[in-house]
Amino acid sequence: MVYKTITMPARKRVALVAHDAQKMNLLEWAKFNRGTLGQHELWATGTTGALLEPVIGLPIHKLYSGPLGGDQQVGAMIVEGKIDFLIFFWDPLEAQPHDPDVKALLRMASVWNVPTACDRATADFLISSPLMHASYERRVPDYEAYRAARAAGKA
Ligand code: PGA
Repeated sequence: MVYKTITMPARKRVALVAHDAQKMNLLEWAKFNRGTLGQHELWATGTTGALLEPVIGLPIHKLYSGPLGGDQQVGAMIVEGKIDFLIFFWDPLEAQPHDPDVKALLRMASVWNVPTACDRATADFLISSPLMHASYERRVPDYEAYRAARAAGKA
């Protein structure tokens, strides 16, 4: 694979997703970090967003509920370079009806090198990074170059 970098802006587009057993955990975390979250653009899966918005008092773009396709929407936004940062508190103790979507979202976050926190400690470390307030050159797959190389028989 060939890579290139894209610039992540100082004001990040943050996606917030929590499975039901983790929603309280995310609500508490987001409340505590409201000040920092308020400096960024927030996106969430449907139920997570609806619960979070009144608690933290910040506008949140809400997608479909996770089991109805919201995780896939977040994944597609990552592919399109529209999400810079993922907080995804998935439930490690229960199977979900949309487990394939969960796996797909985590895979896309890795493919596209999106900083991702799946638990509170990691989320604390990530959100307190100085890079939260700076632009950052993120390395991503260069699909055009990859396709050109394939067309030329080099990959
Ligand atoms: P929800 O989806 O925010 O609509 O509950 C989260 C998920 O299960 O992925």
